[in-house]
Amino acid sequence: MHYSIAIDGPAGAGKSTIAKLVAGQLGFIYVDTGAMYRAIALYFLRKGIDGHDSASVEAECPHIQVTLDYDPEGRQMVLLNGEDVTPYIRTEEVGKMASVTSANPAVRAALLGLQRDLAVHSDVVMDGRDIGTHVLPDAFLKIFLTASVSVRARRRYDELSEKGISCDLAKIEKDIVLRDRQDMNREIAPLRQAEDAVLIDSSDLTIRQVADSVIAEYNKKKEQSSL
Ligand code: C5P
Repeated sequence: MHYSIAIDGPAGAGKSTIAKLVAGQLGFIYVDTGAMYRAIALYFLRKGIDGHDSASVEAECPHIQVTLDYDPEGRQMVLLNGEDVTPYIRTEEVGKMASVTSANPAVRAALLGLQRDLAVHSDVVMDGRDIGTHVLPDAFLKIFLTASVSVRARRRYDELSEKGISCDLAKIEKDIVLRDRQDMNREIAPLRQAEDAVLIDSSDLTIRQVADSVIAEYNKKKEQSSL
């Protein structure tokens, strides 16, 4: 049997940072499903296809192959039709497009099998929007990680500024609100907390504190399951 930890939550809550840390500590594989949706979004941006044009998006899906690979340090690389696109998917433009195209059922269907397969073959910490509710409904541990909009916007602003990318805090906040709305209101696999998920609000917590809480929840579950 393999263990799976699902970490869901809105944009900028710190899911990938926490998931990476926890996976490293437990020796699990880290799976960033957002990166998969971003790779597909990049495909549409490069092709100049309107993400809202569902017929065109659907027609392209059979030509898109997303795969994951890991470098020797365990860092996830995302491949789009064989090309490592990891360096190109972290922009706001790609994130916004991903939020649009991820609402398309054909896009979600294209990734679901791959995501489930990873959890069948390895112990995983998987982060996303619908992991606890759709992808891995039987996950061993489910976490719903959130933070206030202003904290999430500030974190994204700091992250971009650190990379030397000039940005506007108010605009980032507006984009986050829009992305939350799109992700929560789409028909298929919307962002929501699974009933059996543990809620963690990271607004006033450090990265270490959040990671420690997740590990503590995991240990608690393991104890309970061995009783
Ligand atoms: O988490 P990240 O910002 O990289 O995700 C980009 C977008 O991909 C999200 O806004 C969301 O629309 C989509 N996504 C999703 N389901 C997931 C992970 C991401 O719909 N499991």
